[in-house]
Amino acid sequence: MELSQRDITYLPGVGPKRAAMLKKELHVSTALDLLYVFPYKYIDRSRFYMIREIEDTETYVQIIGEFVDWKTIGIGKSQRLSALFTDGTDTIETVWFRGVQYVKLERGVKYILFGKPTFFNHTYNIVHPELELLSRVNLETHKGLEPHYNTSGEMKAGWLNSKAMRKIIAGIMPDLKQGIPDTLPQSLREKYRLMDLTQSLVNIHFPTDTQSLRQARARLKFEELFYIQLQILLQMKRRESQFVGFPMPRVGAAFNDFYFNHLPFSLTNAQKRVIKEIQTDLKSGKQMNRLLQGDVGSGKTLVALLCALLAKDNGYQTCIMAPTEILANQHMQTLTQMLQGTSVRVDLLTGSTTKKQREGIHSALLSGQTDILIGTHALIEDTVQFANLGLVIVDEQHRFGVAQRAKLWTKNVNPPHVLVMTATPIPRTLAMTVYGDLSVSVIDELPPGRKPIQTLHYTQLRRDGINRFLREQINKGRQIYVVYPLIEENKKSDLVDLENGYRYMCEHFPDCRVSMVHGKMKAKEKDMHMQQFASGETQILVATTVIEVGVNVPNASVMVVENAERFGLSQLHQLRGRVGRGAEQSYCILLTRVELSKDTRKRMDIMVATNDGFRIAEADLQLRGPGDLEGTQQSGLPFELKIASLSTDQKLLEIARQAAMDILDDDPELSSTENEMYRRQLGKLKQRVVDWGIIS
Ligand code: ADP
Ligand code: MG
Repeated sequence: MELSQRDITYLPGVGPKRAAMLKKELHVSTALDLLYVFPYKYIDRSRFYMIREIEDTETYVQIIGEFVDWKTIGIGKSQRLSALFTDGTDTIETVWFRGVQYVKLERGVKYILFGKPTFFNHTYNIVHPELELLSRVNLETHKGLEPHYNTSGEMKAGWLNSKAMRKIIAGIMPDLKQGIPDTLPQSLREKYRLMDLTQSLVNIHFPTDTQSLRQARARLKFEELFYIQLQILLQMKRRESQFVGFPMPRVGAAFNDFYFNHLPFSLTNAQKRVIKEIQTDLKSGKQMNRLLQGDVGSGKTLVALLCALLAKDNGYQTCIMAPTEILANQHMQTLTQMLQGTSVRVDLLTGSTTKKQREGIHSALLSGQTDILIGTHALIEDTVQFANLGLVIVDEQHRFGVAQRAKLWTKNVNPPHVLVMTATPIPRTLAMTVYGDLSVSVIDELPPGRKPIQTLHYTQLRRDGINRFLREQINKGRQIYVVYPLIEENKKSDLVDLENGYRYMCEHFPDCRVSMVHGKMKAKEKDMHMQQFASGETQILVATTVIEVGVNVPNASVMVVENAERFGLSQLHQLRGRVGRGAEQSYCILLTRVELSKDTRKRMDIMVATNDGFRIAEADLQLRGPGDLEGTQQSGLPFELKIASLSTDQKLLEIARQAAMDILDDDPELSSTENEMYRRQLGKLKQRVVDWGIIS
């Protein structure tokens, strides 16, 4: 029977109980599925160590020798067995804390002892070593790299540990070695010198040597990345041929009047370049799908406005969608202010727009009087209809799901051009996968005159000093943000933290006015507090991360992040971006508890070391992996990578993408018989990974 048809229940060493566990924990139900559970590490079993060669606690060692002396210490649960093992020259202590009654040592018998050394009492020891009788081991076959598998706590409790997994998978090997159909055509394998599937699966589990392991990994990673790219690019080609974009070739009165008479400052070179890139798309006759990345404060709003004016000059309306009401209001304010004295009409539609206002806006939209509509999710509702929507701008993209974006496309006969703006820099590999079908523009320059923000990391023990510093800033007329971790659903303690923080600030700064904002507040109340802070009526704003996105208060010069250890890197960077928006020196103070994990310490160090959003995003990707990254968390990474890594396999990803591109250039629909395998494989993957349909 084919491996893809063989139920794991009937494999040697499995049975119904373990089969159920494998299904639940690893989503594995056939022998073939099991072959795709890849080891996470390998241990070299061909090398035997002498005890004196042990030099660290990182490497597993195996030693041939015998036990010379042992004793059990203690009784019952706290019983412990300590045994002295010699390789003939030196000795090492081995210890068992558990299962002492099952360890039966014999004198004068040679063992292979295997384990990871620990360093204790100025010397190396081995705790819970594995033992095999040398006489039972065939040294001819006892070599090579031994695979180790990740198993869940539940699996371990059911004795389905790495060793058991190894045995089960080893049991499938004879059948696998008969050969299974490849999932990449021979031509492609030859072109990129890829190992065939059978060999790759054999060697990923039981590599004959490191060279074959490397080749097996390369092939499996390539395949994984290749099919994702093929899917993304296929969708992109389909879209390009299906949707013609609204042509916007003209630069007219609206743009020119604003540019020459109302622009409050000159554009940075990066802003100019990005606008040119967008303009090229707008007149291309194809529908634009562009991602605009620009660090916080790089001036994306202005770019958005200029694009909207281009659309107006060509007879089209624009809508700008913001993730929060606060942000939508702020855009409204900024744009209205900048557009004073022009004939451009901007409207605002959010959850708190009254029914009456709403009706007015609906009709202004339909009659074409509205040039730019700013709003929140409220924009997506079916009742919102445009006379001629030509451009959709989505601000702070990661807050919106892909489905919501898609819905905006249906608001005109053809999908409008789409510009997605984000301040969360997305590492290149991630952009190529999650947003693989978008063109990318980058604003990599801040407006002149900004002083780099100084970032400081302190523990909570330093509160007094920090308060003195905050006092100085307030005396200089500056304002201060104090941010607490997000209030999650049902997480009362967060709200308590925030309220305590509010009271603390009120007590320590009795002459100051303090605002408080959090996500559980009514929108009206929230806006009122935000407004008070923005206008300078209050000096301190105690808030949760609702302020993370986009808020602009140039007079605020200090960002204090409480419990900074609970934030991810990108989020910290976003928060820091709320200050440093005026001409004054700004500060970001990260407060953590004293004891920190290694990763947290790294995060804090990176924040202190750099202001560069792209470096931070790369570091975040390395530290946390793509699944947890801000920017993919909300919209979701639409697939799970089993073996390739977006942090380390950038090169391979680019090769795989090029390979997919070459194939689609010749055969955009994959309709030729020689490309049938690709089509079939994409179909299978779509079935297996439910969310794959989202990559479009
Ligand atoms: P973000 O990219 O984070 O959305 P904003 O669009 O809010 O940034 O811009 C941040 C600040 O920089 C705003 O106060 C804006 O008016 C200002 N700004 C934008 N472009 C320029 C420029 N070319 N020169 C000077 N200031 C600018
Ligand atoms: Mg912005």
